[in-house]
Amino acid sequence: MIRLRDITKFYSSGFVKTFVLRNIDLDVCEGEFLTIMGPSGAGKSTLLYIIGMLDDASEGEYHFFDQPIHPLNEKKRTRIHQQNIGFVFQSYHLIDELTVYENLETPLLYKKVKADERKSLVADTLDRFRIVAKKDLFPNQLSGGQQQLVAVARAVIINPKLILADEPTGNLNSTQGQEIMELFKKLNREGTTIIQVTHSEKNASYSDRVIRLLDGWLEGRQGKPGGGKPQAGDDKKKRLEEK
Ligand code: ADP
Repeated sequence: MIRLRDITKFYSSGFVKTFVLRNIDLDVCEGEFLTIMGPSGAGKSTLLYIIGMLDDASEGEYHFFDQPIHPLNEKKRTRIHQQNIGFVFQSYHLIDELTVYENLETPLLYKKVKADERKSLVADTLDRFRIVAKKDLFPNQLSGGQQQLVAVARAVIINPKLILADEPTGNLNSTQGQEIMELFKKLNREGTTIIQVTHSEKNASYSDRVIRLLDGWLEGRQGKPGGGKPQAGDDKKKRLEEK
């Protein structure tokens, strides 16, 4: 589903190039649940943004479902993002001028979902996340945890093929955090591919594979499916074999 080859990202200032990602090779299969870990500043968010088509690499090739993304302009990349990807931002990125209801409706408008269906999807999602009572409030009237819940709800509402989540439970209490991870696990079992960035070993334990970034380098042979350390994916293979 995702194939990154020799992805490099640097920022230039004057004659100095600051490398953020170096020669990343990464394959992610459809249906995988992948965790990206590593110390602060290692390049995790940058990698997630590139995969999410919200940023482009300086060098290298990116294929998404065999379609080359690296030659596309921003407008075309955004279109593919809107159709396929739900992104949970670390700092939520909710639209301040819109209510919770309208924030949830936005990705459906981009996806050109009809009014009736939009209404019912937003209602279901408000219900599922137990935020019905907040629907007419604006983001700045919510706590950090509530904003994070709305951000997750907005990412999953289009039933995306790929969910990308940057520290999705950082501001939730442990029960809410667990609920989000259980929801991700459920969506993953139903076929959604998930890539999360997290510092939490507990959150990482929900995934099939963990890859680690250090100073912009991907450690070891972890870019290959099955190349990560604990082969939780083996469980999934076993489950599939048992079916
Ligand atoms: P992580 O998510 O692992 O904490 P990031 O991907 O956010 O790391 O950032 C990796 C590095 O890239 C950091 O050292 C950061 O300062 C640098 N960086 C990010 N954006 C820019 C930018 N626009 N200009 C220069 N350096 C940047």
